[in-house]
Amino acid sequence: MLSSRLVQFRSMCLPVVLCSRHKRNIHVGKQLRCRSKPELYDVVVCGGGMVGTAMAAALGHEPMFEGKRVLLLEAGPKQNYNEPLPEKFFNRTCSLNAGAVSLLRSFGAWENILNARCQEVKRMQIWDACSDSIITFNHDSLENLAYVAENNVILAGILKQLDAAGDRVHVKYGATVKDYKLPGGQSFDTEQSKYACVQLESGEEIRAKLMIGADGFKSMLRSAANIPTISWNYNHVGVVASLRLAEPTENNVAWQRFLKTGPIALLPLSNEYCNLIWSTTPEESKHLMMLPAESFVDAVNHAFWSDEHKNSAAQYTNRLFDGLLTRLGLEGSSSQQLPPTIIEVDKGSRAMFPLSLSHATQYVRSRVALVGDAAHRVHPMAGQGVNLGFGDVALLRDLLVSVVYEGKDVGSLGHLLKYETQRQRHVVVSMASVDGLYRLYGTDVTPVVLLRSLGLQATNALRPLKEKMIQFAAN
Ligand SMILES: Cc1cc2nc3c(=O)[nH]c(=O)nc-3n(C[C@H](O)[C@H](O)[C@H](O)COP(=O)(O)OP(=O)(O)OC[C@H]3O[C@@H](n4cnc5c(N)ncnc54)[C@H](O)[C@@H]3O)c2cc1C
Repeated sequence: MLSSRLVQFRSMCLPVVLCSRHKRNIHVGKQLRCRSKPELYDVVVCGGGMVGTAMAAALGHEPMFEGKRVLLLEAGPKQNYNEPLPEKFFNRTCSLNAGAVSLLRSFGAWENILNARCQEVKRMQIWDACSDSIITFNHDSLENLAYVAENNVILAGILKQLDAAGDRVHVKYGATVKDYKLPGGQSFDTEQSKYACVQLESGEEIRAKLMIGADGFKSMLRSAANIPTISWNYNHVGVVASLRLAEPTENNVAWQRFLKTGPIALLPLSNEYCNLIWSTTPEESKHLMMLPAESFVDAVNHAFWSDEHKNSAAQYTNRLFDGLLTRLGLEGSSSQQLPPTIIEVDKGSRAMFPLSLSHATQYVRSRVALVGDAAHRVHPMAGQGVNLGFGDVALLRDLLVSVVYEGKDVGSLGHLLKYETQRQRHVVVSMASVDGLYRLYGTDVTPVVLLRSLGLQATNALRPLKEKMIQFAAN
């Protein structure tokens, strides 16, 4: 559904895009020219979040990029990763899948993250508040299920490797981009307008053969390149917090329960702590933020344990279907485990983030490529956001390496389009699945509850299908 909308949208936009390109060509002399010969880099990465920093570090560690000039621009200050980690956990975390781990390992960042602070996930349990249907994924059957790490720990692990790349990557912190001047079409009139050009707030101008936009979901580079997006707000807010368990345990399960108001998830951080990601309505999120600590903890425990929204018809059908699955020797819902009880919320760890979906209809233009949230932003319920971003980095890095090997121009549209095609094929399917799940679980209408409960139970029983799901999500 989403993919067909994207195709439609892309074709709808094409004449407009061509028209605006044409317009910009008319003004090419004035608009595109950078002032007197600014410095020229092979690749400039704009945005030093987890994805942009990984892009720069990955290129910096590529033998084929020896002698190439790479620059990372980040508006914020540099994070000091040499400081010891605070005892309290940061409230922003990500679950990293096998694909993300493989990229981070390829340039040495994974060991830094493992040695700092990171928790392995050996089991995932996802279940419905309206019925007894569940789906579980286990480490025993599926290698490398996931790891949970704090965003700051992931970034610090990547930054260490960026520094290890030495002179091969230049970095400017406190470098806010003010404007871009991008080549408008295939024909360039002068040497100056041939490259992409970025102007910083400081007035400094820099040219690049390839400008990579890793500047987040409000990407300025995407706007400057006139790349349209499809986006919608979920009218949902993600409430996050660091939570202490009632008693220490071998805490290696990721829990997610679909409530009528949205999914609530607990990600393991250590044997005593979990990270909460509770996606809910703006009204409930405000209420949760204002609750006294004890009442907040009660609300979390209630959300995981309460039976108040159970649908009796769905439960009855589930039980019948479960019996059938067991007779067939398949996995039923008896494998359900009970989530841990929470006893405390860390002071000051509660925060909320508006949730939305956005997708750039194109990821590339001549001398421009988008990665991470600049290209796609998903609902966090499937823990896919930064994993998709790391997938972009891995593919773009591999493509650029082969372009350099062939002695071609890193910013030419021909090979950048290969990146767009391959990546969109994967990202659009992922986004459509997450969005579909969000909608499927956003109702408690009995026929829908019945259908989704049976669907979840059936999927849970089919191990090869579950393995395929994990393999797909890991790219
Ligand atoms: C509540 C919540 C939970 C999540 N959980 C998960 C999870 O479990 N797993 C997962 O994979 N994903 C998760 N995500 C998504 C994940 O956090 C994002 O996908 C990821 O942070 C995006 O990284 P990024 O580097 O692309 O963008 P950003 O983190 O937005 O970084 C963009 C960078 O660009 C810089 N920048 C912006 N504009 C400029 C400018 N003009 N000049 C210079 N620099 C600029 C910014 O300072 C910033 O550092 C979650 C998201 C939320 C909200």
